[in-house]
Amino acid sequence: MFNRIVSSLIPLFPKKFIWTFSKRYIAGESIEDALRVSHKLNEEGMMVTLDVLGEFIKDLDEAERNKQEYLQVIDRLTEEKIDGNFSVKPSSFGLLIDEEACYRHIREIVSKAAGYNNFVRIDMEDSKCVDREIRLFRRLHEEFPRNVGLVLQAYLRRTLDDLKALTPLHTPETPLNFRLCKGIYVEPARIAYKDHDEINQHYLEDLEYIFSHGFYVGIATHDQFLIDNAYRLIEKYGLKKDEYEFQMLYGVTPERRASILRKGHRMRVYVPFGKDWFGYSTRRLKENPQITSYIIKALFNRK
Ligand SMILES: Cc1cc2nc3c(=O)[nH]c(=O)nc-3n(C[C@H](O)[C@H](O)[C@H](O)COP(=O)(O)OP(=O)(O)OC[C@H]3O[C@@H](n4cnc5c(N)ncnc54)[C@H](O)[C@@H]3O)c2cc1C
Repeated sequence: MFNRIVSSLIPLFPKKFIWTFSKRYIAGESIEDALRVSHKLNEEGMMVTLDVLGEFIKDLDEAERNKQEYLQVIDRLTEEKIDGNFSVKPSSFGLLIDEEACYRHIREIVSKAAGYNNFVRIDMEDSKCVDREIRLFRRLHEEFPRNVGLVLQAYLRRTLDDLKALTPLHTPETPLNFRLCKGIYVEPARIAYKDHDEINQHYLEDLEYIFSHGFYVGIATHDQFLIDNAYRLIEKYGLKKDEYEFQMLYGVTPERRASILRKGHRMRVYVPFGKDWFGYSTRRLKENPQITSYIIKALFNRK
């Protein structure tokens, strides 16, 4: 309740105040900020995935601008020889306005990344986007099988069925590559598991399906229970270090991140940046007021 009240008030707070906690989770406004943070993470032994903030656009002009920004980021990351790839949110390219236009924009981004032998991950957004994003992924994977991947959310009741339906696309020449996360949006119980333990149980079920079918996976979680069980499954399936990676959000649980690295696993950090950081921060808070408690903690625990 308290979190809900605080999160509904947050958009009214001054931007400068919001930045005091957002800066822990967001690299900054410019490409240069993202590159600086990425170099540092690379030096510390981690890969990155860059996300240019800009969801929920109002018209296709904004989609065009977002695409141009990604194309520039792809060039800059390559020039700087950063070990990293890209994450895109299809709604930033008009998914809910014009699905075909969105496909063309993301296709151009994937095609550019493929030209550098790099990779684009399609983030998964709220439930009204899921069918559209899977369709998008299927089309792109057909043309760029090694350069595009999809996120799946373990809290959705449909996820194991989605994995099964996508399985026939997986061949040695067209390997599937997923990121598995819990899911961050507030969804109704009709379509999503709500209980923490139940979500974790389904996360592990999905992860085991992925491992047992030889798909590549980004294990995206900060939850120590899931991390420990992922170690167990990695051992059970005898996976090599380059057959999976762990993934965490920039600024979240750096000590857990370090402990995974010390055990010799690969780690990729999700680095959001861009001018829309304020909209991004306040939307995330409205979507999931629980995050407010992390922010309040961060406010009182600034080092
Ligand atoms: C790399 C990456 C990419 C993602 N991509 C997507 C996506 O495309 N679509 C989507 O719906 N969701 C995405 N998510 C978000 C994800 O779905 C979860 O909402 C989020 O990761 C929290 O779940 P958790 O597994 O860490 O478990 P939780 O049970 O939420 O958290 C476990 C523990 O981690 C710590 N923690 C978690 N979050 C924070 C925080 N913000 N600040 C401080 N501590 C924290 C706390 O100690 C907490 O107890 C992504 C997450 C990651 C790591």
